[in-house]
Amino acid sequence: MVLFISRGIKSRLVKRYFPEAEEIEESNNLLKEELEKKRDILLRLPGRAKKVFSLSKILDDFTSLVEKEKIYEFLADNLKDFFLKGENILFFSLDKNKDSLKLIHSFKRDKLIIKEKEGDIIDWWVLRQNQSLIVGNFPEDFRFDYTQSLAFRERDIHSFIVSPISLGDKVLGLVRIESRKKESFSLDDLRLLRIFCDVGAAVLERAELFEKIKELAIKDALTGLFLRDIFMDKLEEELKRACFSNTKLGFAILDIDDFKKINDTYGHGVGDLVLKKVAGILKKVIGDSGNMVSRFGGEEFVFFVVRTQKEEVKKMAELVRDQIDSAKVNTRRKTVNFSISLGLVICPDDARDSLRLISRADKLLYEAKRKGKNRICFIP
Ligand code: GH3
Ligand code: MG
Ligand code: MG
Repeated sequence: MVLFISRGIKSRLVKRYFPEAEEIEESNNLLKEELEKKRDILLRLPGRAKKVFSLSKILDDFTSLVEKEKIYEFLADNLKDFFLKGENILFFSLDKNKDSLKLIHSFKRDKLIIKEKEGDIIDWWVLRQNQSLIVGNFPEDFRFDYTQSLAFRERDIHSFIVSPISLGDKVLGLVRIESRKKESFSLDDLRLLRIFCDVGAAVLERAELFEKIKELAIKDALTGLFLRDIFMDKLEEELKRACFSNTKLGFAILDIDDFKKINDTYGHGVGDLVLKKVAGILKKVIGDSGNMVSRFGGEEFVFFVVRTQKEEVKKMAELVRDQIDSAKVNTRRKTVNFSISLGLVICPDDARDSLRLISRADKLLYEAKRKGKNRICFIP
């Protein structure tokens, strides 16, 4: 005869005659739970090891980059493989005054238009906190008014992870990975994104330094104008081109009038501001479409204008003189005015090679000084 005892009765009998059995059952359950967890970890382990291995290889390749555009491309390329649930990856850079964001790179799995070119409410939150952010279901997140978000309104984004690209307090920008589905990302994902961004920040910072060093090798640090050697190389090139293509090239040397007096009266700091102002006007009036401006030394500048005519380059030179004459630098107590004198020559009419071009322009410049300064001299 099979005696059928229900589970409830059995457990009551066991409890009555073996009171320690309850304790054993409880610890049994705890052990089972623990085992389940460990099994989960073991199952995930090969995937994680693979991730860590490929991550270290990626970071090696990453740190060799020195161009900003390439750095963002590289980041986007790898993030899209690591975050398969991420539908869009957006990169924003923060401008130096820290008051505007600019979308500088994006990866999209579908064809769509990103409208938040200047960032979204989510991005500004991340910037203000300088802290990474994970949101599983946007409309349920009490920190944000999701109805104000373009990402939500335009693309139905429900979950995302965002990390600043920062070095300590210095924030360079941020990365946002988003999905229309809820709960697409885990805390592990957020940590991984932060690793990418931290390395990214260091690589970007180094790229910026590289750019600065490169610039310093070719540009004057005070005025941002090309240095003499770089200008001379380009001038030779353009002279050959002008002869070959039978076009005219205008060349000028200009020098700030009584600059020593400005330095002596107001100090070198004000003198430097005057140099910057003159450089700015030259860049604005001349520095375009193949033309070039350079700080030749001290308070002397040169420029050439390609594919021009005598009358046209005379007008440009006159515009430079006039704008500098009307410009001013404000000091605490006084407004400083200044002027320039300029010698202008045309190739091939006045000279055909660079040495003669410079020597003729130089003579004309001193003629302008002799005649009373704040004027242009040229060969009629
Ligand atoms: P002129 O009208 O005949 O050109 O007279 P000037 O006083 O402009 O010419 P001068 O050659 O006597 O003086 C040039 C001054 O430019 C002397 C030098 O100290 C100053 N100078 C050269 N480079 C810099 C610079 O980078 N910053 C400042 N503030 N002054 C500079
Ligand atoms: Mg001088
Ligand atoms: Mg001078």
